[in-house]
Amino acid sequence: VAELFYDDDADLSLIQSKKVAIIGYGSQGHAHALNLRDSGVEVVVGLREGSASWSKAEEQGLAVATVGDAVRTADVVMILAPDQVQRTVYAEQIEPNLKADAALFFAHGFNIRYDYIAPSAGHDICMVAPKGPGHTVRREFEAGRGVPVIVAVEQDASGQAWDLALSYAKAIGGLRAAGIKTTFTEETETDLFGEQTVLCGGVTHLIQAGFETLTEAGYQPEVAYFEVLHEMKLIVDLMWEGGISKMRWSISDTAEYGDYVSGPRVITPEVKERMQAVLADIQSGAFADRFITDQDAGGVEFKELRTRGEQHPIETTGRELRKLFAWTETRDADYTEGSVA
Ligand code: NDP
Ligand code: MG
Ligand code: MG
Repeated sequence: VAELFYDDDADLSLIQSKKVAIIGYGSQGHAHALNLRDSGVEVVVGLREGSASWSKAEEQGLAVATVGDAVRTADVVMILAPDQVQRTVYAEQIEPNLKADAALFFAHGFNIRYDYIAPSAGHDICMVAPKGPGHTVRREFEAGRGVPVIVAVEQDASGQAWDLALSYAKAIGGLRAAGIKTTFTEETETDLFGEQTVLCGGVTHLIQAGFETLTEAGYQPEVAYFEVLHEMKLIVDLMWEGGISKMRWSISDTAEYGDYVSGPRVITPEVKERMQAVLADIQSGAFADRFITDQDAGGVEFKELRTRGEQHPIETTGRELRKLFAWTETRDADYTEGSVA
């Protein structure tokens, strides 16, 4: 069984005695920086010159500097810029300014697992990866709770890397929920697999296929939207609370019977074979290479896919419907509907 850590397993004073640089102030960056600050840790946010995030971090009372300046005096550097830019930011701004014994922290193992970043032997390499979006990490912390974190150590140069990682995990509120011990390899491969085949890629394409099937058969798009997208959250909430069994306990017998007989007609054994093929591309590095090669070329394929996704008819239907109902109010001030593409 997995090894778990809680607040009592970590010493907060360790991270409180360090100067922490948080590189990037996006989804994870703002949550880590603010939670650490509220836990009594000295934090500086590192951003590029002219960054749109700069004033946001300052307005929230944080010290902000260029990446180089932030790193120069830091004992701990948490890299929370997007995965695809981390390698360049590391080579150009972090590595040349890094203290010889500074610890490097990540919230996802991508760049270490695929060797895009290879720090020298003197640095601790740790991971504290919240298993939830950054905005939830901040919201839960403010509510006195935490989002579970994954903790790993790739390189223990100081002999104290585990203590430091757990102390950091406690400071962002993760150990109020739980810390789960893993490795950079396991976190990277399972994280990519989960988001590609189930959580993001799987669910979005399942919803779109259901929406298309209903509207192509002549049903109203608004009704289809409720049946295949809106209710998804209510169903997932039940699974989240009590597993698939609790969800099945709550739905009607009609829905439960339909789950058993029609589910396997949609998710056939071939779907699992295709999941295994996706996993093989993750393990071999083929997915990472495709992603980074496209990003280095300006993200041409990425942008085209994003635009195509935004143009799916379910987005138009949903946008109009959500305007009419009370659940629309978005809690994330920096997200604007329809602004993604
Ligand atoms: P975001 O896309 O939200 O990060 C954007 C931030 O990075 C902005 O502040 C941006 O500043 C800054 N940034 C972008 N490019 C650069 C650069 N060249 N130099 C310096 N800063 C830059 O990232 P996420 O929070 O989504 O992801 C960060 C890490 O956390 C990743 O490793 C990811 O895999 C991991 N993770 C993310 C989760 C999430 O909830 N999103 C969940 C768990 C892990 P600017 O204003 O200048 O653009
Ligand atoms: Mg991920
Ligand atoms: Mg129904």
